[in-house]
Amino acid sequence: MTLLRNQTFTGLVLRTQDYHDNDQLVYLFTDRFGIMTFLLRGVKKAKSKKRYLALPFTYGTYQGTINSKGFSYLDDAVKVQQFQHIINDIKLNAYVTYLDDLILRAFESGKPQLVWFQKIITATTLIDNGLDAAILTNILEVQLLQPLGVAPNWHSCVVGGESAGIFDYSPLLGGIICSRHWEQDPHRLHLQPKTVAYLRMFAQLDFSKIGRIAVNPGTKAQLRQTLDVIYRDSVGIYPKSKKFLDQMDHWQV
Ligand SMILES: [Zn+2]
Repeated sequence: MTLLRNQTFTGLVLRTQDYHDNDQLVYLFTDRFGIMTFLLRGVKKAKSKKRYLALPFTYGTYQGTINSKGFSYLDDAVKVQQFQHIINDIKLNAYVTYLDDLILRAFESGKPQLVWFQKIITATTLIDNGLDAAILTNILEVQLLQPLGVAPNWHSCVVGGESAGIFDYSPLLGGIICSRHWEQDPHRLHLQPKTVAYLRMFAQLDFSKIGRIAVNPGTKAQLRQTLDVIYRDSVGIYPKSKKFLDQMDHWQV
């Protein structure tokens, strides 16, 4: 066991969880150490002055002790910010909770993932700024397929290698399939070419270059269905937060 005391790092709260009567666990995605679990003792007591360390949808600069095995500890935080629109909007809240769950599933704790840390911070900031949360979620879902162990070939036809043409997606073959080879998978998803074009673009999109998002409702619905099929059949996960998102879609609001 290695204890690193007095460490300063940037972090994003991915999840908080009650622990014992008065304690809480905070799962932080940190720039320097990857995902770490921090134990906050006594934070649920009425007089606790450390509650600001356990606020959901928060990021900032933290100080604490990093433990390579077991729980780490937070001493203080400076410049902590909460994503204001996300905490006040139940839909945005649901999208970001789901994304944070995917991050927790995709990465082992204690392994720095700076590129992914920056991606999730940028995506969360864009959602907080009012850009389309459904599409930003789709982009991260496409990009997270690789760390989640499914790496579809978005670049060229999985049968013949064609990189231009009309494409569909084949869950069976794990990638795009051009119209010349459609008979190779009778269960291909029959997607509109536009939907496939978006998925291919999402796979390589740089979050820092996203300025505006305008995707028509029909294509949005097909993107959602496609990623549901891939996550259900190829990744095999359906977090509670995703179930909540799906239920929310049926609300009349
Ligand atoms: Zn082909």
